[in-house]
Amino acid sequence: MPLTVEIDPHSGFCGGVIRAISTAEEYLSGGNVLYSLGAIVHNEEELRRLGARGLVTVDKSFLEEDGAGRTLLVRAHGEPPETYAKAAEKGFRVIDCTCPVVLQLQRRIREAYGRLQEQGGTLVIFGKIGHAEVLGLLGQVECDAVVVEDLPMLEDALRCGRIRTEAPAEIFSQTTKSPAGYAAICERLRSAMKAALTVHDTICSQVARRHALLKEFAASHSVILFVSGKTSSNGKVLSDLCREANPHTYHIGGPAEIDPAWFACGGSIGICGATSTPKWLLEQVAQAVLAL
Ligand code: SF4
Repeated sequence: MPLTVEIDPHSGFCGGVIRAISTAEEYLSGGNVLYSLGAIVHNEEELRRLGARGLVTVDKSFLEEDGAGRTLLVRAHGEPPETYAKAAEKGFRVIDCTCPVVLQLQRRIREAYGRLQEQGGTLVIFGKIGHAEVLGLLGQVECDAVVVEDLPMLEDALRCGRIRTEAPAEIFSQTTKSPAGYAAICERLRSAMKAALTVHDTICSQVARRHALLKEFAASHSVILFVSGKTSSNGKVLSDLCREANPHTYHIGGPAEIDPAWFACGGSIGICGATSTPKWLLEQVAQAVLAL
């Protein structure tokens, strides 16, 4: 059977990543060096492209250095308040590319924390422990929140009383989590609560829409090549979603990881990616498959 290839029209960077990269490129076009606090996007290929233009990825230890004459980029995930304070103290200029959706989530979490402190309640975040966005959220509330990644972690938090069920609780999700996973967490927490639970719908609408469309896309092809960096949280969630809809799903970082044996039976090959996967990389993968 001959091979046909389709690139998912809904894959590619989300609005927050597009905004951060175009801001960085504009700054770099003046021949400047720009220091990105953490990877601007969880995609090694795109990082290499931007690195060649002068983007340098640094970690938090860079904030201990003298910032005079240096410009720091805060990526779409956002940062806790102490990062801005430290950058100002050291004299860095900051270009803040925190996604507006994340900024709104940070504000809502601060407000909820104020309410819960008066009531002796618990703030719960459904997210990945140690993820930059989650660290930015924790920084809004003096780290006084319970982060759960999955149902077993929620059960643990309930069992050991870190979530106080007799006082009100409010729950938020990291923007890139799975809507189905969040629904399951909220349902279990609601059943355990003796006091009120407020559920905040904070999954990014671009991510939620992509979940629904990606399932259909994965099911409509014989083989799926899911392209994303292996460290991307959104990439992990979306590649698992594709695999549920189509067991012939392969998660690759780029064209070099393609194994021709996957297409031995021919058929239709669907190519898709995470919110951190550039369109040009999906096109390169499609070209590589067609050249087999
Ligand atoms: S996934 Fe949504 S919230 Fe997160 S950076 Fe992209 S647009 Fe912003």
